[in-house]
Amino acid sequence: MINYIFKGGQLIILVLAFFYYNHTIFALPNETPYVLLVSWDGCRWDYINRGLTPNLNELIENGLRAERLIPSFPTKTFPNHYTIVTGLYPENHGIIFNSFVDFYNADSFRMKNDNSIKQDKWFKGEAIWTAAKKQGIKSGSVFWVGSEVYNNGPDYALTYDHFMPHKKRVDQLMAWLNLPEEERPHFLTLYFADLDDAGHRFGPNSDEVNTALKDLDKTLGYLINQLKRTNFWKKINLILVTDHGMTEIDPKNEINLEKILTGLEYFLQGDDPIYSIVANQNRIDIIFNRLNENKHGFQLFKKADFPKRFHFSKHPLIGDIIILAEPGYYFSRQNKNYFRGNHGYDNAIIDMHGIFVAYGPQFKSGYRIDEIKNIDIYPLLCEILKIQANEKIDGDLIRVKDFLK
Ligand code: AMP
Ligand code: ZN
Ligand code: ZN
Repeated sequence: MINYIFKGGQLIILVLAFFYYNHTIFALPNETPYVLLVSWDGCRWDYINRGLTPNLNELIENGLRAERLIPSFPTKTFPNHYTIVTGLYPENHGIIFNSFVDFYNADSFRMKNDNSIKQDKWFKGEAIWTAAKKQGIKSGSVFWVGSEVYNNGPDYALTYDHFMPHKKRVDQLMAWLNLPEEERPHFLTLYFADLDDAGHRFGPNSDEVNTALKDLDKTLGYLINQLKRTNFWKKINLILVTDHGMTEIDPKNEINLEKILTGLEYFLQGDDPIYSIVANQNRIDIIFNRLNENKHGFQLFKKADFPKRFHFSKHPLIGDIIILAEPGYYFSRQNKNYFRGNHGYDNAIIDMHGIFVAYGPQFKSGYRIDEIKNIDIYPLLCEILKIQANEKIDGDLIRVKDFLK
């Protein structure tokens, strides 16, 4: 009898141990899933074919890769990072450029201005962390566009620090993951600007870009090791994305707008290589005609005729004329540093396309697709986290549902 009770006790201990083990190693069916969204700013789609990223390649082998991520227009950092977390085109989420002027309210949004990136009036739509919060899921962000807004940001967010060492970023993320369950974020972001910096300064085919790639891959290796050490590796759905690609600039391809538009009054809303022109109604045709006579290296549109595929003419702060440089061309302006690489061009151009890699318990493994539109990432994130996606978005889960098991 005693022997029997003892054996029963052993069995219970065994069962409990099994559940405990399972809970720490595998996600239980009713456990809130984890998503870690990582951005390598300016990582062109083909950089990761250079054989310089062994850790990433291993992820791809066992996970999912879209050959190319199609950014939204304009192919700039702020508009696209905010698209990724809202599922909205920039014309609908309001961050139409990295910096822009609200001439109706004598106000301006500047990405390099700590105050303006904290004002939630600029950030329309509902970011994923807001949807998550409503449904009881916490978020933590080691940088993401929109994460610093005063009221509607993630539960944990850092003030942007361009020079924070990679290891410190990963360690902060791990510290959040190691919080008790009630405080722990299940949606996390990590951001790195190194490839964008190197691409602008030295061009996409430079040794400096390759060095940045190798460094980022080492950081990815460190992140994976930390996740493995703490048993989060089997639970985390890791998604590595970028905001846009990068193209080589030829110094000869200068477009001097000041010279072309001499004597005319206008305001340029935007940033090289895409501007919209704001001017008095009675000067619009004069400016348009002057540009048309000097049209070389750029495309020219009236706002109303800007092709629908750009999804970029609805917003009231976009001026009446749109000028978009051809790849490799640039608009020169006084006091502007000269770049060897740039982005912001037509999002149909392959050099503007980025990367999308995903790995984790909810993603199919060894799966390949041609492309993913970045508006579809938000509904995908919601589906993984089992949260109700905002219904009024431009993205669609139908196009990406296949990625999941
Ligand atoms: P771009 O001009 O489009 O290449 O912008 C890239 C720059 O955006 C980076 O070098 C950073 O300085 C800046 N940036 C990216 N994310 C953030 C953020 N969350 N807060 C502030 N600045 C950011
Ligand atoms: Zn960028
Ligand atoms: Zn950039």
